[in-house]
Amino acid sequence: MNSQVLGLIESSKKLFISDIDAAEKSALKAVKLSRSLNLKLELAESLTVLARVLADKGCIDQVTNTLFEAHELLEESRDKSPLIQVYSTLGSFYLGTGELELSLESYMSSLNLSIELNEKIKKPNTLMGIGTVLAYKGSNSDALEYYQDAKEAAEENGNVEVVLKSLNNIGWVYNSLDMLEEAEGYLNLCIKKAKNEGLRNILMPALDELGIIYRKKKLYNKAIECWKEAIKIDQERGVSYNSTAPNINLADYYISVENWSEARSYLDAAHVMCNRTRSRIDLIEIYRLESKISESQGNFFEALNNYKKYTELDREIRTQESIRELNRVKVDTLTKGRDRLVILGKIGREITESLDLSTMLSRIKTNAAKLFDFSIIGIAKYDSKTGDISYELFLEDGNILPNVYTNRSDTNSVAAWVVRNEKPVIISNYKEEYHKYVETENILSSAHWKINNKTPQSVLYNPLKIEDKIIGLITVQSYKVAAYPVEAVEAFNILSSYAAIGLNNALQSNKITEQNRRLSILATSDSLTGIKNRRAFFESIEKSRAWSLRNKIPFSLILLDLDYFKKINDSYGHPAGDFCLIEVSKVLKESIYRANDDVGRIGGEEFGVLLNNTDSNGALIVANRIRESIAALDLKFKGINFSITSSLGVITVYPEDDKLLSVKQIVSNVDKALYVAKNSGRNRVEEYK
Ligand code: GH3
Ligand code: MG
Ligand code: MG
Repeated sequence: MNSQVLGLIESSKKLFISDIDAAEKSALKAVKLSRSLNLKLELAESLTVLARVLADKGCIDQVTNTLFEAHELLEESRDKSPLIQVYSTLGSFYLGTGELELSLESYMSSLNLSIELNEKIKKPNTLMGIGTVLAYKGSNSDALEYYQDAKEAAEENGNVEVVLKSLNNIGWVYNSLDMLEEAEGYLNLCIKKAKNEGLRNILMPALDELGIIYRKKKLYNKAIECWKEAIKIDQERGVSYNSTAPNINLADYYISVENWSEARSYLDAAHVMCNRTRSRIDLIEIYRLESKISESQGNFFEALNNYKKYTELDREIRTQESIRELNRVKVDTLTKGRDRLVILGKIGREITESLDLSTMLSRIKTNAAKLFDFSIIGIAKYDSKTGDISYELFLEDGNILPNVYTNRSDTNSVAAWVVRNEKPVIISNYKEEYHKYVETENILSSAHWKINNKTPQSVLYNPLKIEDKIIGLITVQSYKVAAYPVEAVEAFNILSSYAAIGLNNALQSNKITEQNRRLSILATSDSLTGIKNRRAFFESIEKSRAWSLRNKIPFSLILLDLDYFKKINDSYGHPAGDFCLIEVSKVLKESIYRANDDVGRIGGEEFGVLLNNTDSNGALIVANRIRESIAALDLKFKGINFSITSSLGVITVYPEDDKLLSVKQIVSNVDKALYVAKNSGRNRVEEYK
């Protein structure tokens, strides 16, 4: 490891607790340095640390990309142990976005990998993450167990931060079980220690939770004190602090005592933070409280209430930032009369509802026609990396023009000007005004315009922005001079906001689908051989076990370990060993032919074969056939010929006598048979009796 990069990584980790922005800077430096020196392992480590910071800051778009880059680097690397941290960071990221299944999967991948690699150091964080997912899912007692495990593991490793987080989380679960005394005890202990250690990142949630307990105990002043202290401590931690939770709790409390102005100010603060973190769980709570406040203030805000219902129904819309934008537009338009609101609301809903790009575009087009005249309408997406501005929709006089395209560097394109300057363009007489934006007049137009010898004279452009980042642009144009009065421009602005949300949703939805697909593959298959990994294979065993119990039909499990495999690595090199593992996995795949039978890589050079509806005789035949096929393999790698043998353990589970045998016990028993096979000379099959 490069010591300079390592130093930056370490300092980012330290700063994480006290100053999140400085932590980010340090991690970014580490990434930049290791990238420029082309140090893959260091880069992967830096990216992982950066991802953790980004996740904590709520920069949702960047987290998964950062982690996937780290993952790709580590795929190529021999040392898989940094992946433990990658998966666990991914777990905590999905926890933040409320995607519990994905979170659990990621954490489980991390845990299994650390078991496989016998790596202890990073386990507590993962155990704690699993506990939190379980707690969110309502399995409180399981959650407590994982938290206790996490605490013990952390104490063993001397990881004070995780010890304290576990205490905090245990308090949290006791609170949700309404065991307030226990909860208060754990939290007070946690707060006391966190203050001693200066661990601000833990103090905030602990104080927040203690506040909730005091509120339940009707000790309102103490509750308020806790929440305010939580906010203060978080502010001290960095500029982009995130104390959404205590702000929401304060707002909720003030609503209950009908102190609307206090409630409003805390809720606004929570909302601002939530716009950054985009936590769906928080946002829904914020909308709920906002609608309560709105109700208290009369009919005027009834529309907002409806809007709230809308967001609840449309929870699959991923980007909360977009929703805020929509909200803002709607609130603005409220002042301009209810009728207009109804029309615009309907348009907004239509445009933003669809996650499919072409549906969304056609809805923009039809709705734009209701609002104003145009001969040309275009919506482009902008790629900030390449500078490309490519139109997803470009319509002139009802004709679709395909592949309309420009680049931000083009000095003859108004669209490029919009992107470069991040500003809208309003032109009512192109002939007279073009020189403000482009060098040559006629280049505004596409070829089509020139053929018709018509040049648009009224031109509107808006950049499409999400979170101050340009993701595209929209334009409408007319051949008439001064075609767009103020109301039309206003309507265009509102339409643009919807278009930004719609475009962002469609792009994000593509991205998320792709990422989820990649993650689910990562989580279930072994990257070397492509067959099921340990976790997925154990799930298969569990399914077979349940099926077998229900149907009172036996099943068998074969456990296979390659003989003297270490020698292959030592004599011919690791790649030869890998090659051998791939060939063996092929033999195993060929050895099964029933739909529900399965093979998996349990770790290293150990494999499993699952045979449903198979008794002892059948299993022994299959096992011996596998043994012979492997011994007969004529392995050739880079000009070297070699062969390998294997030892196999076989177990058949009869549901009548083995009702209570767990997967763990089954595997441990078959392992005993494998051990006997090894000790009695290898290249053998032994059965567990
Ligand atoms: P035995 O007959 O007692 O099983 O001897 P063995 O050498 O096979 O057993 P041991 O468990 O001592 O060694 C297993 C070796 O497998 C050690 C490790 O380097 C190697 N190994 C584990 N995973 C991989 C892998 O993914 N690729 C390669 N090439 N080797 C691996
Ligand atoms: Mg082994
Ligand atoms: Mg072996």
